[in-house]
Amino acid sequence: MPTPPLQGEASADVVVVGGGYLGLWTTKHLLELEPNLDVVLLEASVCGHGPSGRNGGFCETLWGDAPTLREQAGDAAALAVCRASEEAVRGIGAWCDANGVDAWYRPAPMLQVATTESQVGSWESIVRAAAELGAAEEVVSLSDKNVRARCDSPLFLGGALYRLNATVQPARLVLGLRAKLLERGVRIHERTEVTQLDREGGVETRSGRVRAGAAVLAVNAAAAGFTGYRLSLAVASSHIVLTEPIPDVLEELGWTGGEAIVDSRTLVHYTRTTNDGRIAFGWGGGAMGFSGRASTRLEFDPKVVARTQESLVRFFPQVRGREVTHAWGGPIDVSPTHLPIFGSRGRIHHGFGFTGNGVGPSYLGGEILARLALDRRDERTALAIVEPGRKLFPPEPFRYVGGSLIRRALISKDAAEDEGRSPSSATAFVASLPRRLGLRLPR
Ligand SMILES: Cc1cc2nc3c(=O)[nH]c(=O)nc-3n(C[C@H](O)[C@H](O)[C@H](O)COP(=O)(O)OP(=O)(O)OC[C@H]3O[C@@H](n4cnc5c(N)ncnc54)[C@H](O)[C@@H]3O)c2cc1C
Repeated sequence: MPTPPLQGEASADVVVVGGGYLGLWTTKHLLELEPNLDVVLLEASVCGHGPSGRNGGFCETLWGDAPTLREQAGDAAALAVCRASEEAVRGIGAWCDANGVDAWYRPAPMLQVATTESQVGSWESIVRAAAELGAAEEVVSLSDKNVRARCDSPLFLGGALYRLNATVQPARLVLGLRAKLLERGVRIHERTEVTQLDREGGVETRSGRVRAGAAVLAVNAAAAGFTGYRLSLAVASSHIVLTEPIPDVLEELGWTGGEAIVDSRTLVHYTRTTNDGRIAFGWGGGAMGFSGRASTRLEFDPKVVARTQESLVRFFPQVRGREVTHAWGGPIDVSPTHLPIFGSRGRIHHGFGFTGNGVGPSYLGGEILARLALDRRDERTALAIVEPGRKLFPPEPFRYVGGSLIRRALISKDAAEDEGRSPSSATAFVASLPRRLGLRLPR
């Protein structure tokens, strides 16, 4: 049952906007730091309706971004962010255990694989970064034989293993968090859309307002719709298909260790098994969004679903003839650097830009935003993902048009490489634009 919408005026010490992982973890951390704090959480729909309730459930660290972090902030700062992101992955498991929330949290390594010759070795800069930061065991290269010993897809040509990773059932996690915060007495108003932020910490909704000492903006891609944040992120989309339970196929593939697997494209394929013996298979190649506005194409695009299903069968031919029982999509908040961004504008404290890796890092983001909202400074607020320096996307309509052109070029480039061809020079040039402009798209 949704909680009642906010009607009229309310006050609180902190108002949290957005009931996904980030808003909910922030609330949890706020109450841990200040048990008597008065927190109100406003959610436009119901908590978990956004990607937090329907993602791929990869609970990752930020080791994949280690090269970018070193380049931007130096070795010590890069190591600090990566280690903090490891604590977040472990923290989610520990929270589930301590609170009796069965979110199907399953620790198992993540594999980044090559499915074309052009992808082979694309993980080397990450493996090198981990080694040079004194953490060689965190990301190691694997031969094709060792990858296929964990999951025997005919496409896998080698890869890298990220030691610390887990998978979760996303909806179980977000609903478990919501339930625990409600039990704790947090006022959560669902079906309450925030329309305006005030730099002094208050917010306005369609039918009321909250006066507060601080506000936390945790609305994912919708942040691009708020004044002051329009150029900070671009909006892409990702889709997932889910098979019926096929434990016999998982046995045949030797894929029984729970590994999460991504390929090495820019518009990435990602796949995992579930506790009830299914394969979830996703593709980050959906349409671009316009200025943070909700769009049905981002939520469910039949053409993208069909392509995702074709890729599922290419990866795992044994799945042919088995049923896909569910398919869905959702928006991705793309940051210019591929790293999440946290910071403050007056008394509004924001977090966005997870770029498809928000399940693990949102726990860390919650720790950061809770401290910013309480004006406490420590090693979490000193991390290089807090106030990282402003890198902006172009304004609309250029962002949408340019992003859509680049997306199309990336799809053509990937298709050519899947067929063992080189992409045309025009396609290769457009696909290389994000890198040339210093932007990084979803992996
Ligand atoms: C298909 C798909 C697969 C993904 N797979 C993975 C994965 O495997 N691993 C991973 O790490 N990440 C994955 N992601 C990304 C991950 O789901 C997100 O990074 C993460 O859920 C972000 O959490 P959040 O709290 O920031 O956002 P959300 O879950 O979107 O929560 C934000 C909330 O804010 C609410 N809101 C928006 N506007 C307003 C407003 N004006 N007023 C009040 N409330 C508002 C929304 O309704 C929403 O509930 C995936 C995303 C998608 C779409």
